[in-house]
Amino acid sequence: MIFHYNGAAAAEQIKKRITPAQQSILSKQGLKNAKDFLLLRPNQYLKRLAHVTIDALPIGQMRAIVGRLQGVSRRVVRKNLTVFSAQLLTENDAIYVTWFNQKYIADQLNRYPYVVAFGKRESNHFDATFQVSSFETYPTLASTGHGQIHPVYPDFKGVSSKTLLLLIRALIQHTNVVDMLPKQVCASEGLVDIQTALQGFHFPTSEQCVAQAIKRFSFDELFLYMHPRRLANQRVKQTLGHFHLKPQHALIRRYMSQLPYQLTGAQQRIWDHLCHDFDTNQLVFRLIQGDVGSGKTDIATLALLAAVASGYQGALLVPTEILSQQHYFKLSERLKDLGISVHLLKGKQAKKERQVVLSALASNQPLIVVGTHALVQESVIFSNLAMVVIDEQHRFGVFQRQLLLEKAKKPHCLFMTATPIPRTLMLTHYGDLDHDTIDEMPPGRFPIKTYFGQPNRIRQVHEFIRLTLNNGGQAYVVYPLIESSEHLSDIQPAIDGFNECIMTFSEFTVGLLHGKMPNKDKQHVMQQFKSNHIQLLVSTTVVEVGVDVPNATIMVIMHAERFGLSQLHQLRGRVGRGGDQSHCFLIAQPKSEPSRQRINAMLSSTNGFKLAEEDLKIRGPGHLLGTQQSGDLVFSFANAANQALMQRVVFWCDRVIQKSSEQSQLQSFLLNQCVVASELLN
Ligand code: ADP
Ligand code: MG
Repeated sequence: MIFHYNGAAAAEQIKKRITPAQQSILSKQGLKNAKDFLLLRPNQYLKRLAHVTIDALPIGQMRAIVGRLQGVSRRVVRKNLTVFSAQLLTENDAIYVTWFNQKYIADQLNRYPYVVAFGKRESNHFDATFQVSSFETYPTLASTGHGQIHPVYPDFKGVSSKTLLLLIRALIQHTNVVDMLPKQVCASEGLVDIQTALQGFHFPTSEQCVAQAIKRFSFDELFLYMHPRRLANQRVKQTLGHFHLKPQHALIRRYMSQLPYQLTGAQQRIWDHLCHDFDTNQLVFRLIQGDVGSGKTDIATLALLAAVASGYQGALLVPTEILSQQHYFKLSERLKDLGISVHLLKGKQAKKERQVVLSALASNQPLIVVGTHALVQESVIFSNLAMVVIDEQHRFGVFQRQLLLEKAKKPHCLFMTATPIPRTLMLTHYGDLDHDTIDEMPPGRFPIKTYFGQPNRIRQVHEFIRLTLNNGGQAYVVYPLIESSEHLSDIQPAIDGFNECIMTFSEFTVGLLHGKMPNKDKQHVMQQFKSNHIQLLVSTTVVEVGVDVPNATIMVIMHAERFGLSQLHQLRGRVGRGGDQSHCFLIAQPKSEPSRQRINAMLSSTNGFKLAEEDLKIRGPGHLLGTQQSGDLVFSFANAANQALMQRVVFWCDRVIQKSSEQSQLQSFLLNQCVVASELLN
């Protein structure tokens, strides 16, 4: 949060008000310094009611009532259980209260006759009781804080809510909290200053105080998250490219003229952006998102060609071997007439073959290399790497991405993703990247028709498949599991499904593809499917990313309720890649509400962006980005899906960065704050 406080004074208060034992309990819960305490979020707020009758209390809801205890009696039920009962005299009622154990309450009543009793009204009967879960005791009525709203902090065993409250009050009073967010920002955004926010968060006089505090904290939180990213973005913008690429080269013109189609408007626009960056010698650091089948590979190819045409090397990093193979073949085929050498580097590769690739990379020779994670291994040395394209980039950890970049001197980088990212997440998670969207499909594509059916409809689906295969088409049937599993006995595994399809489709060739097969077998099966020697491919989600067989027009997803929305969309995207109408069948028995929502979303839209927004609503940002990349997207106060707010935060970040000389105080505060975040910048 964007404020300063006196650390020494804070440490003194903490020492004074909580014991070392309590400190150790709290620090295990992540409460270590004053900031942690100041931002500790109460579980709820309760008004302390002195003027209250039992009839006015709702049943079963937590309340705090204030009064004197009278006529305490006890009953020992068994060794560790004593039940106390008493009258609690409020200003206008005598409420019958009970509690368990907590003998010290009765013992303290001489010195501290007033109590705040936290509990719930139990029954609706004539003899209604108030069951107390905890007490605070006070010497006078005035000291109970009656009539006020008090926070109830999480229950840390051994540290009462009262102790925390007193500590937090002292911290607010004695640590000289200074607001670092410029007044201008507060005024424009309708935010309260930090003192008001902290006061209102812990000692509210109305619900509105709490809402205002949370609004302010959300802003600060997003600002602190975005600032280093925007700074990185600005820095990249100001960095000159180390490698000067020449996109107007004859090689690229020749490639364009031999393409069997014209670039779509969106492809052309993105290529123009890249050319502009190349021409102005700006470092390219750009994320390209485009729905499955929108033709990202063409952009990748052009970018790699630009490197080769300019005398450098280009690398295409992909997440799976199947995909590396596919890209390798496609690039080799398209580029062979241009005399460009294309290499493939993968995990399991004959030593000699690998050596040839490695020495080519280490030489100064211009070339393109396609590879999996194998590309980031230490033994791989690039002599002249000017362009890195990372396909399906969400499949890679930030770490791997980093490793590859470190192998070269500031290469240009393109990140490709087919997981459409809602605009909000785009702004936050990829705040450091420029981005472009391929928002247009190649011409002549029909939107895929999607159907939902219970498992008992599978025969009809099979007949539909048969008709298509008879007409020379091909189909996928995808299962969630390879083999049967004890825990998931009601799920038919792919191997079973494969055997079943062999019988059902005896007149055709049926193939099986799954992640546990040796890579060589996988490639063989894919090759057979591509060349239509296999007509029906039974598979697991290994076909999820990137696989491109335009002749396949049917996708059947078995147990569709088991897949996430983006997975379903990716799988569906394997079809609809040619000029024929494609169909997707979701076979499922959805039992939970989210699984029903996912299937409905699939039926109602083929637009990946809409689905991503939907997924964000159903599951939140963590699932959307994959845990690898979203760990830092967990906010305590802010809602990551609030796009309007995010846009304003970005606006202010950019503004603060641009006017850095005027905002020097804030600037240096931010730089201190962002020691951790700054690692991200380097
Ligand atoms: P993705 O964006 O999912 O990576 P691909 O690059 O694999 O998509 O392209 C999908 C299919 O569309 C490929 O078969 C490709 O050859 C074809 N394609 C790409 N661009 C065009 C275009 N401009 N016109 C026609 N077909 C295209
Ligand atoms: Mg692709």
